[in-house]
Amino acid sequence: VVEIPQGASVSKFAELISAQPNEVIKRLFMLGQVLTLTQSMSDELIELVADDMGRKVRVVSPEEEFAVVYHDSDDDLKPRPPVVTVMGHVDHGKTSLLDAIRDTGVAQGEAGGITQHIGASVVSIDGRQITFIDTPGHEAFTAMRARGAQVTDIIVLVVAADDGVMPQTIEAINHARAAGVPIVVAVNKIDKPGANPDRVRQELVSYEVVPEEWGGTNMFVEVSAKKRLHIDDLLETILLQADVLELRANPDALASGFVIEANLDKGRGPVATVLIQRGTLKPGDSLVAGTSYGRVRALVDPRGTHVDAAGPADPVEILGLNSVPVAGDEFRVFEDERDARKLAEERALRERLAAQDAKSHMSLDDLFGRIEEGKQTDLNLIVKADVQGSIEALRDAFEKMDQSEVRINIVHSAVGGITETDVTLAAASDAIIIGFNVRPTGKSKQQAEKEKVDIRLYRVIYQALEEINAARVGLLSPDI
Ligand code: GDP
Repeated sequence: VVEIPQGASVSKFAELISAQPNEVIKRLFMLGQVLTLTQSMSDELIELVADDMGRKVRVVSPEEEFAVVYHDSDDDLKPRPPVVTVMGHVDHGKTSLLDAIRDTGVAQGEAGGITQHIGASVVSIDGRQITFIDTPGHEAFTAMRARGAQVTDIIVLVVAADDGVMPQTIEAINHARAAGVPIVVAVNKIDKPGANPDRVRQELVSYEVVPEEWGGTNMFVEVSAKKRLHIDDLLETILLQADVLELRANPDALASGFVIEANLDKGRGPVATVLIQRGTLKPGDSLVAGTSYGRVRALVDPRGTHVDAAGPADPVEILGLNSVPVAGDEFRVFEDERDARKLAEERALRERLAAQDAKSHMSLDDLFGRIEEGKQTDLNLIVKADVQGSIEALRDAFEKMDQSEVRINIVHSAVGGITETDVTLAAASDAIIIGFNVRPTGKSKQQAEKEKVDIRLYRVIYQALEEINAARVGLLSPDI
C-alpha cells in the first residue's frame, strides 16, 4: 500500500505510484476531470485513479504525514536545566516564593534587570540555570497535562508552617504523583510565631511525602518567602533533585516543545511563550504551534532581551505567529515553511469542523420534524454511486417528485466511494449523503460519526426514493 499525502499534485501522485504522469492525466480525463500536472487531487480522485490502475493506496492527512518520533542517540543528549512548577494551598506563599526566588536569582545572575512577565522565569545559582513556570496553581498545570504537555520536571510544594497540610496541598501531591514528578517541599513562613515545621513533616507522611532524613525520598527546605530566608538553600536543593533526575536533551535539532502562555499583543501581534524541550530555536525558523504557524520574527527572553537562540529548558517569547495558540499546544519547527503551513491549516480546518460538531447535521430521521417546525424547506443531498446511470436515474425521479414542501437539491454527485471530502462537504452544506452500491472509504465513516453527518446506503433506486418520501411525511421507520 502506497501512502499518498492528502492534496498531492498529479505529478507527485504519479511519482509515488511509479506511473507515467500522462497516464494519470488520461485516467483523470476519463473520469471527467481535467487536471494539470501541478494541480492537487482530491482524496476521492486519488483513490479512484489508483483503483483504476490496480494500485493500493492510502491517503494520509498532514497530521499523519508529519507525525514524528524523536530518536536521540546517547551522544546527542546533553545535560539541561530543570523546569520547576510551584504548587500548594492558597495563601501558603506560592507567589511570594516565586518573587523571592526571582530576586535571589537576579541578584546572583549576571545581567539583572527587570523581569518581564512572560509566564516563566529563569534564575541562576552557582552558574546553573533553573526555569520556573510562573503560573502557580493546579489548574494551569492540569490543563496543560490534559493536552499532553508534560513540561515540569520538579514540583515545589509550598506548605505554610503555621497552617500545615490543607486540601489543595493534598491536591497538589496527587497532581504531582499522577504526572510522575518528584516533589521538593518548601516549608514556608518559618518566620511566623506559630510556625511548626515538624508538624508539616509529620502530616505529610500520611500522604507518602516523607523527608529523606526520615528514610523517605523527598527533600525538604524550611524557608521564609517574606523574610527571604534560605531561598538559596531551596534553589540548591532543586539542583540536587535535578541531578538525581539526570535531565538531558538534544540541543542540536529542530526545536520542539510546548506553549506555556499566549496572548494577542496590541503592538506586537500574537505572542506566545514556549518552553523548549528539544533542539534550538532561532529567529527565522518556521514553526507550528497547535493551529498557529509562522516564521520567528524575534525571540525574547524573560529579561526582555532579544536573543539569537534558545535551547532546551529555555522559556522564550516568540513573535511572528499568524494567530494566538493555546497554552499546552505543542510547537515544532519545520524545515520547510510550506509544511508548517499545511499542518497548521489542516488542524485549523479540523477544529472548525469540530466546532460545528455541537450542532448536529441534517438527517433523514429528523427531516419531518424540521418541516413541521417550518425550519426545513430544503433537503440537500450528496449522491455517490458505482455508476453514473444511478445518479441520473435518481435525478430524474426527484424531478417528478412533489417538491412543494421540501425542495430536493443534489449539491454534489459523483461516481465513487464516500470520502472524507464528501463528509466535509455534507457537514458544510447540511446535506445527507446517499450511496448506491458504494461504501464509505477510509476514515470517512468515523468522520461522519464525529460530525453527525447522515450517510444512507442503498442497493437500488426505489429504496432511496421510498425512504426519502417516508421521511418527508414523518413515516420513516426508526429502525432503518
Ligand atoms: P499564594 O496564594 O500561595 O500565592 O500566597 P501569597 O504568596 O499570595 O501569600 C499569601 C500571604 O502570605 C501574603 O500575605 C504574604 O505576604 C504572606 N506570606 C507569604 N510568605 C510568607 C512568609 O514566609 N512569612 C510570612 N510571615 N508571610 C508570608
